[in-house]
Amino acid sequence: MTTLLANIAKVRDRIQHATEHCGRDVKDITLLAVSKTRPATAIEEAHHAGLLHFGENYAQEAEAKVATLQHLPLVWHFIGPLQSNKTRLVAERFHWLHSLDRLKIAERLQAQRPVHLPPLNVCIEVNIDDEASKSGLHPGQLDDFVRALLSLDRLAVRGLMVIPAANQTAATTHASFERTSACLHQLQQQFPQLPLDTLSMGMSADLELAIAAGSTLVRVGTDIFGARL
Ligand SMILES: *Cc1c(COP(=O)(O)O)cnc(C)c1O
Repeated sequence: MTTLLANIAKVRDRIQHATEHCGRDVKDITLLAVSKTRPATAIEEAHHAGLLHFGENYAQEAEAKVATLQHLPLVWHFIGPLQSNKTRLVAERFHWLHSLDRLKIAERLQAQRPVHLPPLNVCIEVNIDDEASKSGLHPGQLDDFVRALLSLDRLAVRGLMVIPAANQTAATTHASFERTSACLHQLQQQFPQLPLDTLSMGMSADLELAIAAGSTLVRVGTDIFGARL
């Protein structure tokens, strides 16, 4: 078995155990392979191993890979910071954006999403640990922000994305995930008309904690493809 196949099997195993541990169904967790900095060949190999969802952070790098791999039925997720001059790429070539944090970006995506495609799936990034270095909305800003998105019919508001502060204890990280989960539940009550079914949380180091707190999508790079170059 290749290293990539073994890594994917190991990550799937971890997800399986994590769901069993908290009585959830493994089918409710999507595995998103974070392929930033990896060549298209690695993505192709991961697809052959059964992965469908791939996450990219950098617009220029992503554009080339999406074009190279357009013969494959992949689901592309943009998970990095998105500048307004790069929204067209995401609107035209991606299925998901995880890092929505500004109305201006949402309005550009609304205008640029091609009519022949379904609405772009978006998650709102939450700055759950109130870090100055991080983008994302504070929990108290979510209600107004989602309300402002209601008229944008080319976007499907699917949920929240979070990256907790680094170097915390497991208990603190778990608490950050739980607070994010609570934010989603509140939005579900507030906006029953929206398809709010996604909690994009958990990476290589903390996917078990995220699943225990209700994650529906884990974003895994290192533990699938190895250490980034
Ligand atoms: C790079 C990245 C990941 C993957 O992190 P790993 O620790 O390599 O699994 C997940 N989410 C985002 C937003 C990232 O930028």
